[in-house]
Amino acid sequence: MGETKVMPKKVARRIEAIPPYLFAEIDRKIAAARASGVDVISFGIGDPDRPTPPHIVAALQRAAQDPANHRYPSYEGLPAYRRAVADWYARRFGVHLDPDREVVSLIGSKEGIAHISLCFVDPGDINLVPDPGYPVYALGTLFAEGTPHTFPLRAERGFLPDFSEIPSELARRAKLLFLNYPNNPTGAVADLTFFREAVEFARAYDLIICHDAAYTEIAFDGFEPPSFLQAPGAKEVGIEFHSVSKTYNMTGWRLGWACGNSEVIEALGRLKTNIDSGVFQAVQYAGIAALTGPDEPVRAMRQVYQERRDVLVEALQDLGCPVTPPRATIYVWVPVPAGESSTSFAEKLLERAGIVVTPGIGYGPAGEGFIRFSLCLEVERIRVAVERLKRAGIRW
Ligand SMILES: *Cc1c(COP(=O)(O)O)cnc(C)c1O
Repeated sequence: MGETKVMPKKVARRIEAIPPYLFAEIDRKIAAARASGVDVISFGIGDPDRPTPPHIVAALQRAAQDPANHRYPSYEGLPAYRRAVADWYARRFGVHLDPDREVVSLIGSKEGIAHISLCFVDPGDINLVPDPGYPVYALGTLFAEGTPHTFPLRAERGFLPDFSEIPSELARRAKLLFLNYPNNPTGAVADLTFFREAVEFARAYDLIICHDAAYTEIAFDGFEPPSFLQAPGAKEVGIEFHSVSKTYNMTGWRLGWACGNSEVIEALGRLKTNIDSGVFQAVQYAGIAALTGPDEPVRAMRQVYQERRDVLVEALQDLGCPVTPPRATIYVWVPVPAGESSTSFAEKLLERAGIVVTPGIGYGPAGEGFIRFSLCLEVERIRVAVERLKRAGIRW
């Protein structure tokens, strides 16, 4: 019997251009280990495990009951939300923002990071992206049919780029420069001197800096990471992406913002007007409650992550691992032992100890030689994992 099969149309080149998923093999092994009864301990996911503070959830509940919030929101974000972001920047960083022209709401900062290239990149244009780095910088560039050119972040420079290594010809042709400090996946931090250098570089080559500041509030030992916008002249050359996701354990809520240069913000807002219809207002009210509420829950989370970091880092050091404790983020970036690759060592940890980590190669070629531990699991589980490493005879 003949069967008529309707072939789907071929996917677009921009979808084909998405690089293959590097963790497919390790994901298969994790599933197999779980199926065979192994109590797998995952340091894989960068997603806060603790709940959102109750006063923020209560603000959502109240706002959800108000019919005024059931309609389409304003595209650029509620004035009160943008004002709360501006007030928070003034309080936290001493940075003054005009909430009407220099702040736009986002459906999580990832949304803005993925869309910004559509505002500035024509087919064939170049963006400069860090390697290793959050994959969305390069993928957003590819969606706009641009070319991501990577620059390496090396351990010997504290995972800060050496701008003088970027060929001037390339820098002149590039549109956007993506930076991210405190950094995922390396846990590295930047100071204002570095951001000043970045502003100079952007001025010299007429680049737009897109700084991803998702982790400024997750820092340890009293360190307070600066905003890129604190650097003199930063607002003339760039914007900063930020969100409530990591600061307030709100990854599921999808609420962020971009702020800084008004022309860049205007372009992003114009694009978004034509794609999405903004963020549910009740979620924006919850965001206002987060940004204007008590700092205590944030301070408490810093302590929680710091204790997890210390337990993990000390144990790894006892096993001979030359790891330095990160000063910020929810990640520990760990060199693999000699003779191992990031994937071979990640597989060994899974097979010998039932522990999941992310191979550094997944963040770019310069991530080879490292694995990433996330700190999104309770300290008791970290202690169990550490015991397993010892018993399995894993050493560096
Ligand atoms: C988690 C994370 C974000 C935040 O994403 P949201 O969309 O705001 O949840 C942005 N950048 C990096 C590097 C991250 O790790």
